[in-house]
Amino acid sequence: MSAPTFFRAAVVEEFGPEVNVRDVDLPKPDRHQALVKLHASGVCHTDLHAAEGDWPVKPEPPFVPGHEGVGEIVELGPGDHDLKVGDMVGNVWLWSACGTCEHCRTGWETLCNDAEYGGYTVNGSFGEYMLVDTRYCARIPEGSDPVEVAPILCAGVTVYKGLKVAETRPGQFMVISGAGGLGHIAVQYAVAMGMRVIAVDIADDKLELAKRHGAEFTVNAKHSDPAEAVQEYTGGGAHGVLVTAVHEAAFGQAIGMARKGGTIVFNGLPPGDFPAPIFEIVFKALTIRGSLVGTRQDLEEALDFYARGMIKPTVHECSLDDVNSVFEDMRHGKIEGRMSIKY
Ligand code: NAD
Ligand code: ZN
Ligand code: ZN
Repeated sequence: MSAPTFFRAAVVEEFGPEVNVRDVDLPKPDRHQALVKLHASGVCHTDLHAAEGDWPVKPEPPFVPGHEGVGEIVELGPGDHDLKVGDMVGNVWLWSACGTCEHCRTGWETLCNDAEYGGYTVNGSFGEYMLVDTRYCARIPEGSDPVEVAPILCAGVTVYKGLKVAETRPGQFMVISGAGGLGHIAVQYAVAMGMRVIAVDIADDKLELAKRHGAEFTVNAKHSDPAEAVQEYTGGGAHGVLVTAVHEAAFGQAIGMARKGGTIVFNGLPPGDFPAPIFEIVFKALTIRGSLVGTRQDLEEALDFYARGMIKPTVHECSLDDVNSVFEDMRHGKIEGRMSIKY
């Protein structure tokens, strides 16, 4: 199959709310790289942060966002690869890493100082074609629905890793704060891991979705104090709290929801800070840790949960031309589960 010389992509020309859907030149795969024809791509809230230039470390416009892309390899770059033309692969946030630094050597490639990020430092999956590094791309399990599996590539692996480092055991309480793209999948992984799941959000429809995916108790943080509600329901607080929310308020509330000796994991990345009560953190002996996507091994495991039918993202299909309206809905918290672009 011969690829064209240009293709359509959603491009961030300058930071702001709008992407521009236009033709871009087809790139040539370099060493360790493959050219991929996209079948689908999830739209992550990180793509919106990227387009708006929300974070201290910014991408450089013009760039193509998207790091939940699923497609087939149409061309391999020079050198040896253990993937072939026709294989279904995905791009991820951790697009590549150096492989030799201290973080890479110790199995923390997500912390590599020389990493490239999909849809951020390297063009991503909001287009008909993309490049992947065949050493770091996702291998999509056979029989996967591209539109449905796409969100596992970021939302899925991120919350799966977040739950692993929350060190919460089966039978213990886990709060998932924020039940959006990441959170509704987090509920499913936590249930699959045998935890007792509580979901917190500020929208009733998100909490309904969390219930459908197995949350046994939900709290609308807009209408009641989530710390009080969780303390009462669990008789002393949740053993683990995973924060996927896009508002700083949820980060402080996590401390109040946690049990003594509990662990709080931050996945959400709203720009800004929150006030942290030192006394409560010390007297409850809390562990608070940040968690960034997942390693290749985490990704393989996260995808395996999907392949075994234990995780089923709630996805709604859209087209590349819909990206601006998807961003608009995302900004207003109007998306149920994940939007996934179908090519
Ligand atoms: P999303 O827009 O799909 O979902 C966000 C959810 O947060 C919504 O359900 C919204 O109602 C809820 N929310 C807003 N304010 C809240 C509050 N005060 N309390 C509780 N819930 C609240 O976004 P997403 O795609 O799930 O991404 C969530 C965040 O995670 C983003 O900031 C994104 O950049 C970040 N993220 C981090 C990583 C990582 O590796 N750490 C990976 C992917 C995404
Ligand atoms: Zn993401
Ligand atoms: Zn490295």
